[in-house]
Amino acid sequence: MEQTFIMIKPDGVQRGLVGEIISIFEKKGFSLKGLKLINVDSAFAEKHYADLSAKPFFHGLVEYIISGPVVAMIWEGKNVVVTGRKIIGATNPSESAPGTIRGDYAIEIGRNVIHGSDSVESARKEIGLWFPDGAVPWKSSLHPWIYE
Ligand code: GDP
Ligand code: MG
Repeated sequence: MEQTFIMIKPDGVQRGLVGEIISIFEKKGFSLKGLKLINVDSAFAEKHYADLSAKPFFHGLVEYIISGPVVAMIWEGKNVVVTGRKIIGATNPSESAPGTIRGDYAIEIGRNVIHGSDSVESARKEIGLWFPDGAVPWKSSLHPWIYE
């Protein structure tokens, strides 16, 4: 079953959106397979966002991610990578549809509350970086009520 890496950024934690965001993914039917509250340092944040190192906003992005604790999660389910991105909404909150997390809870691109892997391959890399011990193995007893 497909997995994705979701991170509630420091603004999401500070603004008390952790429970709400977890609830959205839970109610959709996805399974939580990893969860931790963690402060990361700049070397770690730079690794996570290595693909963006040439961008002019890279330094500010790293400062943002290390500005407070983040909630790192593994979520599992059919098409969870693409569906997770839809739930999160467009990168710039002014272009994110209402009903998405960024559309409902954010205003600026540099304070957009949440991260989600953009492909199955990125998810694999990001889960490896954030959860070196891997996912927690368990299967929800609701599985047959969510999947046919
Ligand atoms: P995402 O996959 O939707 O999170 O977007 P990207 O991977 O392109 O960028 C990673 C993060 O960098 C975004 O979520 C934003 O927080 C930040 N970011 C992206 N583009 C910009 C920008 O133009 N300005 C600023 N300040 N931050 C940006
Ligand atoms: Mg991205």
